[in-house]
Amino acid sequence: MCAVGLVAIVFLAVGGHWPTLLASVPLGPTIFLAVAAIAGEVKPVRLLGEDGEERTLSTSAPFVLALIPIAGIGIAVAVQLVASLADDLLHRRALRKSLFNTAQYTLSVMAARAVYSWILGVPFFGGPMEVHAGDLPALLLAGVAMILVNWFLVAGVISLSTGMTVWTVFRADVKDLLLTNVVLLSVGGIAAVVADDGAGALALLAAPVIASHLFTAAAARHAHDATHDSLTGLRNRGHLYYQLEHAFDSSGPVRLGGPGLVLVDLDHFKDFNDTLGHPVGDEILRQVGARLLEIAPEESSVHRLGGDEFAVVVRGDLAQTRQVARDVLAALDAPVHVESLELLVRASAGVAVAPLHGDDGETLMKNADIALYHAKLERDRISTFSQEFDINTVERLRLLADLRTALDTGELHVVYQPQFDLTDGRAVAVEALVRWRHPERGMVRADEFIPLAENSGLIFPVTAFVLETALAQLARWHASGRNLRMSVNLSARHLSDQGLPQQVAAALTRHGVPASSLVLEVTETAILSDPARADLVLHALRRLGVSIAIDDYGTGNASLSYLRRLEIDELKIDRSFVSNIGADHHDLIIVRSTIALALALDLRVVAEGIEDAETVTALRGLGHVIGQGYHLGRPAEASALDRVLGTEQGVATKESSDPTTGPIRSV
Ligand code: C2E
Ligand code: MG
Ligand code: MG
Repeated sequence: MCAVGLVAIVFLAVGGHWPTLLASVPLGPTIFLAVAAIAGEVKPVRLLGEDGEERTLSTSAPFVLALIPIAGIGIAVAVQLVASLADDLLHRRALRKSLFNTAQYTLSVMAARAVYSWILGVPFFGGPMEVHAGDLPALLLAGVAMILVNWFLVAGVISLSTGMTVWTVFRADVKDLLLTNVVLLSVGGIAAVVADDGAGALALLAAPVIASHLFTAAAARHAHDATHDSLTGLRNRGHLYYQLEHAFDSSGPVRLGGPGLVLVDLDHFKDFNDTLGHPVGDEILRQVGARLLEIAPEESSVHRLGGDEFAVVVRGDLAQTRQVARDVLAALDAPVHVESLELLVRASAGVAVAPLHGDDGETLMKNADIALYHAKLERDRISTFSQEFDINTVERLRLLADLRTALDTGELHVVYQPQFDLTDGRAVAVEALVRWRHPERGMVRADEFIPLAENSGLIFPVTAFVLETALAQLARWHASGRNLRMSVNLSARHLSDQGLPQQVAAALTRHGVPASSLVLEVTETAILSDPARADLVLHALRRLGVSIAIDDYGTGNASLSYLRRLEIDELKIDRSFVSNIGADHHDLIIVRSTIALALALDLRVVAEGIEDAETVTALRGLGHVIGQGYHLGRPAEASALDRVLGTEQGVATKESSDPTTGPIRSV
């Protein structure tokens, strides 16, 4: 096409009757129109398409159109070429692209002149001529021809390079570009008619063009605000659906794979916000957004969905989409710098790709969301949707949503399981265990919802509730003269919460309970997941006078010497070892040596999961041990426990509806 354009230029240069032409052009109007055309090209109107893509619309067309009769085809083409070259230079366009532009403009201006000459019967190379009102229809039709030829040449190239059909390009352009252009042509028509009256009359025409600049700039600003996130400048959630649908449309009837969707969620972003403040949180989001934009492939679109959630729409198959997910996480490997801080921001990603995981934007979105949730839950970091975790995950998501309300509606409550000193049979402590009475599902086991709460951050309000309830109950027991300790379970996430010691101290003061009566249980695995921070938090808790117990001891990988270094107070041997010591000799050996070692290290020993009298007898022979288990007392409501602890003997009368709570016996 470039060659055709160049031939056309040579043709114009040779056949243009330049000397006569230059002698007869009206100088003032020609210069005015030329300047207006060049200005319109280098300072285009900015439009924002429905797809959120910014387009520019040059306003040179009407002035070039007016030049076609006023100054002749040669000068009209020359002005258009100067304008387009100036624009190419300004934008440092590649030579190939600039050549294409040159050819494209030459051909479209020539097409306009051909139409004009043909309708009015004037020669193609005819010299300057006056334009009368009666010539306007011909001139406007010539303008339409100019725009259409121009547009078809561009659309053809876009279609060849992207694989989109010309029709798709046409639909994207018709409203914003083509129609506006055609409307602007009327300015060209008037300019041609008033050119006779000199440059002064023409100057008045600048007003509507300037007005169109101002209006479209304002409209583009509004459209930008509606489709973009104001904090990061990325596209927003509403626009994600548009992009997805558009990606489906343009992928053609035989879809090889794609589009793909990557949903990204920052890990523990709330902690940054809470501890460092919202301005820092905002800056993190901005920087994360910029990094995503940098690594995203050219044809993809990056969105902020709100909060700390981002999305990338990928025009590619499963492998390409997963690669984008990996690139996203890799982009966050380097710390984010905010003020003088260096913050490590981690994220998880969920991937869903059409047609494998959905045939429309909405399904893809839902499934990528499930994959993301799965990535968080399993700590996989990147997870691709699979039908298998669909049902399971939807169920868990629902439960999680319910848990959020449960905290407000009082569906959670606390039961207490007693611990007895096996040497003298005294009740010495109780363990607080949370229960959830779900309005539809009935009693939900702690094992079912605690992991959900841990992964969502809801564990913080859950623990706060348990601690508050348990300490209030302990204060009542202390007031009635029962000197018990209270054990409360902590999750791994609490061990990196530097605010926990202060929160515990405040709760103790609020309820007037001495710190020495509170035992906080943590598991070995929880400590080992972030030992340095756990060390700090546990140390601060112990300084308060609170005891630390290792729960489920034996199921993790910690060595006793390591735990000793952590300065703990109590060891709870897991029930998987304890419940079998009557029958399994190996278990007996393990429990016996663990008890001996723990006592030698001056730790309090609690044996969990005592389910029969034989186990009690066996444990008694192994040293000074505290026992907990169904045989001694199931977890029960405080009131049920009161009746037993009041007499320190006998069997509680009231059985709870909770299968894991029930009668309490003394040793
Ligand atoms: P855990 O801390 O080891 O709590 C003891 C669990 O063993 C309780 O289950 C208790 O009902 C059960 N159990 C007690 N004696 C026996 C026995 O003789 N045989 C058998 N088979 N089981 C016995 P529960 O209440 O379902 O709690 C399960 C786990 O959920 C707890 O294990 C603890 O890790 C967690 N959990 C419970 N409440 C809370 C809480 O308030 N916060 C946190 N973070 N975790 C909690
Ligand atoms: Mg426990
Ligand atoms: Mg335990």
